[in-house]
Amino acid sequence: MRIVFMGPPGAGKGTQAKIICSGLGIPQISTGEILRNAMDKGTELGREAKSFVESGALVPDSVVIGIVKERIQEPDCEKGYLLDGFPRTLEQADALKKMTGELGKPLDVALNLAVPQDELVQRLLERARKENRPDDTEPVIKSRLQTYEEQTLPLVDYYRKEGILKEVNGLGSLEEITGRIKEALGI
Ligand code: AMP
Repeated sequence: MRIVFMGPPGAGKGTQAKIICSGLGIPQISTGEILRNAMDKGTELGREAKSFVESGALVPDSVVIGIVKERIQEPDCEKGYLLDGFPRTLEQADALKKMTGELGKPLDVALNLAVPQDELVQRLLERARKENRPDDTEPVIKSRLQTYEEQTLPLVDYYRKEGILKEVNGLGSLEEITGRIKEALGI
């Protein structure tokens, strides 16, 4: 199954994505994680991404599109994959449509995990205390939420029009949400 996993920062996407991927035996492709790893290692990609990630802005489309294009052609993606945090702009969504079309392996489902804004700031601040992410300070959190509203939220409509959107309520316990996601995916 080829899945796009959408939702605002702090919706619990990453955690749920891990559970779903281990159940399905498919890789979780998190562009945020790929970028953070590159930043930790100080690679060219990491140096290019740093200022964008640290300010809560999006890394240029061409950079992330290139990463995903290569990654989904790796042998472990043969059975499917889950994209966590990509696409985040209409340009990325169009590029993904084009590349999956060219590979003859279109997306099966775009799942949107919906959580109200005020809940998100609290969750993100809590996560900032537990993990040590460079982009979980209050001003950066606000900027990431704004970036999401402006650039990524339109993708919900994009995938609705494509006819592959599934919406899931992201409020509740971890187990409840996992249950809803599995039901939406029919697994
Ligand atoms: P995430 O872990 O998905 O919240 O991503 C953390 C940060 O990495 C984002 O705030 C962006 O700066 C960058 N990033 C991750 N995925 C993308 C993407 N698809 N397009 C642009 N920037 C991204």
